[in-house]
Amino acid sequence: MVACPCEVCASADPKDKRLRSSILVQSPTTTIVVDTTPDFRYQMLREKVRRLDAVIFTHPHKDHLAGLDDVRAYNFFQGKAMELYANEMTQESIVREFPYAFADMKYPGIPDLRLVRIDKDPFTVGDITITPIQVWHLKMPVLGFRFGNFTYITDANRIEETEREKIRGSEQIVLNALRHEKHVSHFTLAEAIDEVRQLGVPRAWFTHVSHQLGKHAEIAPTLPPGMELAYDGLSLTTY
Ligand SMILES: [Zn+2]
Ligand SMILES: [Zn+2]
Ligand SMILES: [Zn+2]
Repeated sequence: MVACPCEVCASADPKDKRLRSSILVQSPTTTIVVDTTPDFRYQMLREKVRRLDAVIFTHPHKDHLAGLDDVRAYNFFQGKAMELYANEMTQESIVREFPYAFADMKYPGIPDLRLVRIDKDPFTVGDITITPIQVWHLKMPVLGFRFGNFTYITDANRIEETEREKIRGSEQIVLNALRHEKHVSHFTLAEAIDEVRQLGVPRAWFTHVSHQLGKHAEIAPTLPPGMELAYDGLSLTTY
């Protein structure tokens, strides 16, 4: 956290260096990113992502959207608009927060964006099929996504039983766990552990971790079998 002197923010352990939450999903032919965080540009540079077919969005909070302008580099190299898969609420925010990209008179060099509406129905990008899962972030509906046997859910503090059914059978899940103390719109670590047990997913990784949770090296050994703290640069394989 900017300006924070706490031991987590001051830690030299690379696993305590947490950029904002996002994932890259890749098949042999298709590359998708989930959310464009304020760190999007640096994350793409760090991972040397040369091609990007689409962005899919969970919700319009700034920590998941603010980096969108930097898709312009992919527009330049790929010579086409970037497809943005988002629900109605997130689409409205994208148009409101990046109005210059949707103006009639476009300034040269601005990002070229093509909005694609999604809702609760599965959709396909290239050869990747994606099933949206609607979860609750206090009162905001947020989309999680299932890709084959892998499910990604960030920014939730409640999942309805009908949506849990869409997650069950996953072999791996990434789920948000903010900190130990109760929070209005995020699962605590204990709540996230309980949610994973209810879902019966054998392998879980916790993300969207606050500095308030503590150091990676101190929290990791306290987690139940099959559950781990995610970290920046973590790579998983799924089918
Ligand atoms: Zn701190
Ligand atoms: Zn949020
Ligand atoms: Zn967030």
